[in-house]
Amino acid sequence: ALPNQSKPPWLRQRAPQGNRYQELNTQLRGLKLATVCEEAQCPNIGECWNGDMGTATIMLLGDTCTRGCKFCAVNTARTPPPPDEDEPINTATAVASWGVGYIVMTSVDRDDLPDGGAEHFAKTVRIMKELKPSILVECLTSDFQGDMAAVRHLASSGLDVFAHNIETVASLQRRVRDPRANYRQSLDVLKTAKECGVYTKSSIMLGLGETDDEIIDTMLDLKDVGVDIFTLGQYLQPTPRHLPVQDFVTPEKFEFWRRFGEEEVGFRYVASGPLVRSSYKAGEFFLEGMIH
Ligand code: SF4
Ligand code: SF4
Repeated sequence: ALPNQSKPPWLRQRAPQGNRYQELNTQLRGLKLATVCEEAQCPNIGECWNGDMGTATIMLLGDTCTRGCKFCAVNTARTPPPPDEDEPINTATAVASWGVGYIVMTSVDRDDLPDGGAEHFAKTVRIMKELKPSILVECLTSDFQGDMAAVRHLASSGLDVFAHNIETVASLQRRVRDPRANYRQSLDVLKTAKECGVYTKSSIMLGLGETDDEIIDTMLDLKDVGVDIFTLGQYLQPTPRHLPVQDFVTPEKFEFWRRFGEEEVGFRYVASGPLVRSSYKAGEFFLEGMIH
């Protein structure tokens, strides 16, 4: 990663605090639950955990991905270890007994599994909703290699928000994402999920060399397939072997995109900021966006 000094000041991390943050933190110690928030040392943990809702992100299906995107530092292998069959029940039980109101479940891409892991996700959602009907569940998924049956299966599992990140503008897809992913396929996945009657969400990273017009086109394309929620954040290079940052977008420009997305494009809500990740305060924004 870039040394801290060369990053603009708005990317400095804030120390987590707040009563609700402390409460969730204490509860978590007794549960066997690994969060992305902690493992990735996410700079937003104070804000996400301290919200009235409380938002957290967890991973399913292991830590080894079958793909290799040029912006992502996850471990990769052609055939990762098989999924833990007890994970859906164990994870659902732990999350249901934790105090978060909004849980984001994400995973590496599992192109080695016949359904891409869709049923594994769906089962976790079903058990979680059974144990705690009030919890809001977002699944941030792979494109399932365009397997729309898998997309429908997961989107119909009882989840509240189906999220799939298109990651960047059309012209940069080949440079940024694994070759198995592409712009059209991601739009089709989001369209199919929307047809199942759920909220849909997508996200792009800025600072990879995209132009303003390309960002606008991407927003319009996402809106066109019915996407409800859109997020933008700054791309940060995880290691020197990954794609370099082309530019650091200012907080003011991020604010411009938020307003543009909400007021001109018409998304239900847009989260946009240098440190925004697609799950950033998702619970709080969800409530706000869905009530208006
Ligand atoms: Fe956790 Fe996502 Fe919030 Fe970061 S942005 S603290 S990973 S929920
Ligand atoms: Fe990382 Fe997801 Fe790409 Fe896998 S598919 S390398 S987890 S961004």
